[in-house]
Amino acid sequence: MPRPIEALIHTEALAHNLERARQQAPDARVWAVVKANAYGHGLERAFEGLRAADGFALLDLDEAQRLRDLDWRGPVLLLEGAFEARDLELCSRLNLWHVVHCEQQIDWLAAHKTHQGHRVFLKMNSGMNRLGFRPQAFRSAWTRLNALPQVDEISLMTHLSDADADRFGHNGIAHQMAAWAAATHDLPGERSLANSAATLRHMAEAGVRADWVRAGIMSYGGVPDYPEHDAAHWGLQPAMTLRSKLIATQDLQAGDSVGYGSSHVTNAPLRIGIVACGYADGYPRHAGTGTPILVDGVRTRTLGRVSMDMLAVDLTPVPTAQIGSEVTLWGCGPGGTLLGIDEVARAAGTIGYELMCAVAPRVPVRVA
Ligand SMILES: *Cc1c(COP(=O)(O)O)cnc(C)c1O
Repeated sequence: MPRPIEALIHTEALAHNLERARQQAPDARVWAVVKANAYGHGLERAFEGLRAADGFALLDLDEAQRLRDLDWRGPVLLLEGAFEARDLELCSRLNLWHVVHCEQQIDWLAAHKTHQGHRVFLKMNSGMNRLGFRPQAFRSAWTRLNALPQVDEISLMTHLSDADADRFGHNGIAHQMAAWAAATHDLPGERSLANSAATLRHMAEAGVRADWVRAGIMSYGGVPDYPEHDAAHWGLQPAMTLRSKLIATQDLQAGDSVGYGSSHVTNAPLRIGIVACGYADGYPRHAGTGTPILVDGVRTRTLGRVSMDMLAVDLTPVPTAQIGSEVTLWGCGPGGTLLGIDEVARAAGTIGYELMCAVAPRVPVRVA
């Protein structure tokens, strides 16, 4: 028998979450963001649940090729654009739309030999300071692009750094929206600004919804502004379950310790379970004693350090647990129980995004 750990992908949850993005922005089109192998869910599997999207946004050319291999003929957007000049050949061949965020990418386009006009998304650095033209350089970049025969249509985009929270005590997107509006109000073209956080929190504000929203984490049921809100608040469903089983139990006496480094010492007799899941499966090693976990659908806590292949759980709330009992690391448990990936992430000092992207290749993945 294989090791009992597995990841389940819930395609109906993906479809449901995409629909939530549509409800939030009914007059916009929705990019399903599927970078990083669809946030660890597997591009081909995620495509099954997200095929009602208006387009797919990603980074890697080989992922774009995989989408075309799935017979997706609709829009595909490269969120970082070309990494070198010859990437544009594949953009022409596969009809990929691409971001243009720097002068060098315009140079490559100007030298690119193609009969097919490209659709580009000109990116503004409105304050995040990763990619894009500063507001004062945006118009000249637009003018340069507009003069190129290789360019068919120019859309405008920017990315928001604080759509999930306040920034310095004020509305998290106001400063970027002001820079954006001032530099783009008289330019033509479709626009895209909102990530998941903005799609959930800022749709009432003029101009944020625009023509396209970019739904990443919310498509997978992750909550961009946890713990201020949870998945139930936003009506999102987990698209991934990581589950395993108990492979041993131990009866500890007061004063016994659990695992490497003896970081947890019991002060009373305690029954614990050993779970076939460790950091080599992608479970975060930084999840300390007390991280929530379900055993047979009952909520309990981890104990001691996470090791490479195993972790320990407190069986006090679930005295009937035994070898073979189902353990839910995150996602959907038996009998309709749920454990949010964001809750586990928080206990490990990280975010749900990182956990879903980090499920290790050794974990078998199944479509539920
Ligand atoms: C990853 C990404 C998104 C999606 O962000 P979420 O927070 O997952 O919704 C949107 N836009 C760009 C440019 C991105 O790189």
